[in-house]
Formats: sequence, C-alpha cells, structure tokens
Amino acid sequence: MDETEKSTNDMAGQIRGNQIHAMESNVPMSLIGYLLVAAIAGWVAYDDWSDLLIVWGPFVTVVCIVRIGLALKTSRRPVRPMTLAEQHFLMVATGVVSISMAIGPTWIALHSQGFTSAIMIMLLISAMWGGALVQATVFSSAVSYSAANVPVWLVYLAVSEVNQAQWSMALLFIATIVIAIDNVKRYARLFEEGLRQKLDLHQKTAHLEQQAEVIGLLLREHEAQSSDWLWQIDVEGRIVAPSARFAEAFGGQSRPLAGTRLPELFSDPSIAGNAGALARLIEQVGGGRSFRDLIIPGSLGGQARWWSLSGRPVRDAYGRRVGYRGVMSDVTVAKEAQAHVAYLAHHDPLTGLANRAHFSAGVQADLDYGGERKVSVLAIDLDGFKAVNDRFGHPVGDALLVALAKRLRVVTAADGVVARLGGDQFAVATCSLDSDALEALCRRLNEALARAVRIGAHDIAVGASIGVAVGPDDGRTVDELLRNADSALCRAKREGRGQFRFFEAGMDRQMQVRAALLQELREAIPAGQLSLFYQPYVDSRTGSVTGCEALLRWHHPTRGMVSPADFIPLAEESGLITVIGKWVIERACETAATWPDNVRISVNVSPRQFKDSTLPTHIEEVLLRTGLPASRLEVEVTEAVLIDDAAVALEILRRIRAIGVKLSLDDFGTGYSSLSYLRDFPFDKVKIDRSFVRDIEERHDSQVIVQGIRSIALGLGMTITAEGVETTGQAQRLRTSGCHELQGFLFSKAQPEGEVPDLLRQRHVLYGNDEAVPVAVEKQAPAPIAVAQAERSNPIQTA
Ligand code: C2E
Ligand code: CA
Ligand code: CA
Repeated sequence: MDETEKSTNDMAGQIRGNQIHAMESNVPMSLIGYLLVAAIAGWVAYDDWSDLLIVWGPFVTVVCIVRIGLALKTSRRPVRPMTLAEQHFLMVATGVVSISMAIGPTWIALHSQGFTSAIMIMLLISAMWGGALVQATVFSSAVSYSAANVPVWLVYLAVSEVNQAQWSMALLFIATIVIAIDNVKRYARLFEEGLRQKLDLHQKTAHLEQQAEVIGLLLREHEAQSSDWLWQIDVEGRIVAPSARFAEAFGGQSRPLAGTRLPELFSDPSIAGNAGALARLIEQVGGGRSFRDLIIPGSLGGQARWWSLSGRPVRDAYGRRVGYRGVMSDVTVAKEAQAHVAYLAHHDPLTGLANRAHFSAGVQADLDYGGERKVSVLAIDLDGFKAVNDRFGHPVGDALLVALAKRLRVVTAADGVVARLGGDQFAVATCSLDSDALEALCRRLNEALARAVRIGAHDIAVGASIGVAVGPDDGRTVDELLRNADSALCRAKREGRGQFRFFEAGMDRQMQVRAALLQELREAIPAGQLSLFYQPYVDSRTGSVTGCEALLRWHHPTRGMVSPADFIPLAEESGLITVIGKWVIERACETAATWPDNVRISVNVSPRQFKDSTLPTHIEEVLLRTGLPASRLEVEVTEAVLIDDAAVALEILRRIRAIGVKLSLDDFGTGYSSLSYLRDFPFDKVKIDRSFVRDIEERHDSQVIVQGIRSIALGLGMTITAEGVETTGQAQRLRTSGCHELQGFLFSKAQPEGEVPDLLRQRHVLYGNDEAVPVAVEKQAPAPIAVAQAERSNPIQTA
C-alpha cells in the first residue's frame, strides 16, 4: 500500500467514523420515541391482537434496548475511524432492528381493518421515514433499515390471500420506502461531502502549522546569526512573541515589548519624518499589503536611529489575515553614511561651507522666487593665496582657508550664505540688502580677510578682492550672476588688492573682449604677430646711446597695433607670459648680439616669470647660444615681483645676477614699500617712474622724491635712469639731480629692429630749448656710468 492510497483509506475510515458516530447518536432517542409510539398503537389494537402483542411487544423492546446500548457505546466515545466491517455489522444490526420493529404492525395492518389498520400503517410509515432520517448519515444502514421489510411484505403477499386494498397498501408502502431511500441517499452524500471538506481542511491546517513551526525554527536560527530581528503582530497591530534579541534591542523600554502596538514602539514625533513613516506603515498594514524596506527614522535611548522594516500579512487556513510577520534591521550606520555622503555632496569638505552646486541651487531658488527681492552674489578671491601655499606648504594654506572661511561666515552671519567655489575662491549670496548695506558688507569682508591669521609660528595676511552682481538686474540665472560678479571681481583685482567693485553694464562685454583677445594672443605667437621694438636710453652727460629697452609689439591682423599695456596683463593672468617672456629674451639677445659691444639691452620680465625656477638657466642658455656677454643684458623687474613670494623671487634674482646679468628696478616709486626692497636686494639700476619725471619741473615734491631716490641709490651703489623724459627741461633737471641715464620720447620712441643701427649712430645733444638734436657719432667711446661721475654735475653740452 503506498502513501496516497493509505491516506485515502485513512480518510475513508475517518469519514465512516464520523458518519456512524452521527447516526449512532440519533439512534437512542429515536428508538425510545418509536417504543412509545408503538406502545400507544399496541394499546389501541390490544383488544383484538393481544396474543400477538404480548409476544411482539417484549421482543421489540429487547431488540431496541440492545440496539440503544450498541448506539450509546459508539456515540459516547470520541469519533474514531471505522472499518468497512464495522459498517456492515451495523447494517445488519439495523436490518434486524427494522424487521423486528415492522413485523408486528405489518401483520396487524394486513389482517385488520378500519381504525386499527390505519394506526398500524401510520406507525409503519412514520417509523420508516423517521428511521430513514435517523440513518441518513450512513446510506447503507438507511437502505438496510428501509429495505429490510420489503421481503417480509413480499412473503406476506405471496402466502396470503390479499385483496386489492391490501395490494395497494403494499405498493404504497414500497413506494414510500423508495422515496425515503432516494432522499436519504442525497443527504448521505451531502454529509459525506461536508465531512470530506472538513477533514481536508483539517489536514491542511495541520500541515500549515507544521510548516509554520519549521519556518519559525529556521527564522529564529537566522535571527540569532544576523543583525536583523523578526517581528510579528496580531490583527490589532500588537507585537506577538518577540524574540529575546528583539526585546534586548529595544531594552530599556518602560513597558514589555509583547502587546505593545508596533507603531508605538517607533513613535517619536520630535524626529523629522517619523510621523510620516509611521503613517505609511499603518497604511500598509491596514491595507493588508506586503512591504519592503520601509525606513522609519526614530530614536532609541535619546539617540537618533533608523530602522528598515519589511513585512507581509500572515493568513490562517481560511485565508483570513491574522497579523503580520517580517524582519526589521537597524540601518542607522548606513543612513548616517548616506547622510554624510549627502552632506559631502553639498558642502566643501575642508571648510564646511556650501559648495558650488549647493550654493547655485540656493541662489537659483531665490531668483526664481521673484518678487521685489534683490539677490546679490559676491565673488571673493583671495589675493596672493598661491604664494602662501608655495611658501608654507599646503597644510598651512588649508589652515588659512579654514580660518578665513570662518571669518566669512561670522561677518556674513545672518546676511547670507557663504560658499567655497574652489581653490581660494569664495562666494556670498544675500537677499534684500540695499546698496549701502551691500557696500558695508563688502567693506567688512575686505577688512576681515585682510587681517593676519596666526598659523603655527606665522602671521599670514592675504586679503581679498570682491566683485558684486545684483540680480535680477545683473542676471536672472546663477550662472549669469556669478559670471558678472566675476567680471566685477576682475576689475577689482586689476585696480589693486583688497578692493570691491559692483558689476556695471559693459563689464561683461569687456570680459568677452578679453577672452577673445586672449585666444588671439595664444595664436599670435605661432603666427609671428609679435615683434620687439627698441627704445634707447642715453648717457645724461654725453647724450650717447648706452642701451635699448626691448618693448613688445603685437601687430594684430584686424585691430592693428595692440599696446603691451593691454595684452601684457592678460598674458600674465593667463600664464601665457612665460612662453612670451622666453621668446622676448631670446629675440632681444639675438638682436643685441649684432649691436656694438658698448650697447646694452634691457628686457622686461614679469613677476609671473619669477615663479618659474628655470628662468636663470634659460637666460644662461640664450646668452651662450647668442654669444651676448652677460654684462650687456639687463633684466627689468617691478617691485611687484617681490610681493607674492619674496623668498622665491629673491632666490631667482640672485641666480640671474650670479650669471653676470644686471638687474634693474622698473617703475620705481609707484610700488608699495620701495625703500625696504632696495635695502633687501641690491639692484644694479633703478628706473625712476614716468610719473615723477612728468612734473619734475613744476612740482617741488617730485624733485624731492627724485633727490631722495638718488641719495639712497648712490649710497647702495646703484645707477639711476629716468624714464618718460619728454622735454629738455626735464632732461636738464634730471641730469642736475644726478640721473645717469635718460629715456623717453625726447630721444626716441621705441623703434623696430631695423631702425636700431641708425639710432645707435646718433648722439643726443641737449640744448637749453625744448629739443634734443641728434648728431652723428663718428666713433663713440663707451661712456662708463659710475657713481663718481654721476656725482659731478655736468654742464649741458652745447654744440
Ligand atoms: P615700461 O617697462 O615702463 O616701458 C615703458 C613704457 O613707456 C613703454 O610703453 C614706452 O613706449 C613708454 N614710453 C617711453 N618713453 C616715453 C615717454 O617719453 N612718454 C610716454 N608717455 N611714454 C613713454 P609700452 O611699450 O607701451 O610698454 C608698456 C609696458 O608694457 C611696459 O612698461 C612694460 O611694463 C610692458 N612691456 C612691454 N614689453 C614687455 C615685455 O617684453 N615683457 C614684459 N613682461 N612686459 C613688457
Ligand atoms: Ca621697462
Ligand atoms: Ca617703466
């Protein structure tokens, strides 16, 4: 017998057991009822049928009592599976009882008439129907009960002389039996079907329970090994049978976990997002839906926590929802990491200020808000920050940025947001400040950023330039505002350090023009559009040319001649100057090598070129290649070279000087703290700026300044050149003030390379009136410029 067959048989036995049990519990009462009814019928018929009744009465009573005993025995026991044999036995017993019950009334009914016969027929029919119903759960018994009397009837009919009425009665009785059996059959089937379903269900439930038990075991095992907890709630949402780990995780709670409603466990209205998440949880559970990774922010023991919940409804065998079951994990660490990543995405990690993306989003939102509000963007750029980095190293640079960022925040405070856009660029956005308040803010920022910061053993002061653009007038998008603030910033930078400028219409045009110009300048070098012009300087006593200054010229194909004053700053800002500068040195030395030995060449070198430590080697190589003696080369630098990083610049200046090249301090008097530079670094030559020369005749202070420069320079063994000499009056005054060399339009403008040989052949003789007449020089001896000679005041040479 295989498994399925066995289980089917088990099921049949169980069904049988149930059917029989149901039937047997009906039997006692119905038999007692029958005996009572039969006794009444017997009393009615007793006068005529006493002999029969005296025998049949006790007989049927005994049979019924035995049957009742049998039925009680079965019905009082719990339901148990029954075999087919037991069923057959009952079938037989039922048949016996049925025949015993019917035999007496049948005989009387067939042999009497009138009232007595009718009573008997009634008794028989009611017994037949009642009995059939009592047996209804067991079809075979019902058939046995109903049909057992049919043979008895047939025997009667065969052996007795029966009249037509009796035949009719017999047929009626048999028909009744057939109808009863047919009904019973249906009831029996319904009953059996019901039973089958019930048992089926029962089996399934048992199976489910077993499964649940196994799953439970597995889950608990899993829970013990992982960081997740299992949770289960009933239909009311109350926690059911929490595991020890679950309880432990929420330990310290004042009430026991079991019975607590799940949402209450997480509820903390003070935590942002808590209420919303719990509402979602309640909605999911209320709707009987499964859910995954529902994140609930909350708190535990005063600390912020995040939980992730997954769950699905638990159903009983009838498919009804009886609760929820799921897993939960503490995802605080992951959430915090996520939050940190989000923070990083919006902030500059060094200073903690907003980053560009965050800043832009904020400003754009303010702009989009519209209305009367003015949205101002301040672009801030530190002055000379790179030098700090180069000199003290990046850690100090970083510390400086952090310190200045803090100041920015303090100064801006409630007025706006501060961001670091990158490197040493910062930005401030403010709303609704009028122009006076904005100016005041800029001034406070300039002032705060200019103050020195103490880092380690150093007091470092940089300062900053600020450009301001005010939306929506200066731009309706962040990009526009930032670009225009940048234009204003560029202007501020160009006008000197520590300044602020407001954007003005046209600045962006200028920026675009500058950008276009820069692109063209890049292409100008390979295109051969750059050339050098040469402007001579003369000995103030003899008037003979002692050297020439190389001045760059740009022959622009459409703009014509572009002034170096316009493109040199651009080249410096963009770094293009290093390439151009090298070319200038090469070209100037090559040209000068073709000149007489007593004529020097001066080359302008930008501060930016002093960031490149290969400058001295480059100069050395060029001198070697061109054969120009180092003593004939002069490098002109402005004081600006010593501003950003004096140490590096001084080192490079020393190396250049070590080659034998002369160093000249250009534009002297216009810079910052001129005199201390002269003391720190011994230049060979000082060029007094044009601005002092211009009014040397009229202004006494200019004369005093020139005198002062002269005495310092002489004391330090430097020679003095005055530039921008345009009149003989200036020339005379300068010469009497002790300037050794003079340069300016009075003698010559800068000339192209081809004109230089002619220039060199001229000697400029200064007259008392406003002109310097060049005279041909036959053979000119070099005029050494010496301090001693310069001390002497030479009379103006007259022809
Ligand atoms: P700088 O070095 O001070 O050059 C003198 C400037 O004054 C030249 O202008 C010159 O033409 C002009 N100048 C000379 N004499 C007179 C005069 O009597 N009156 C007036 N009003 N001006 C006079 P330029 O050539 O336009 O150069 C302007 C500046 O461009 C130069 O000023 C220099 O700083 C820079 N520069 C020129 N060439 C180069 C170069 O090759 N490299 C670098 N780094 N800078 C250069
Ligand atoms: Ca110069
Ligand atoms: Ca100059």
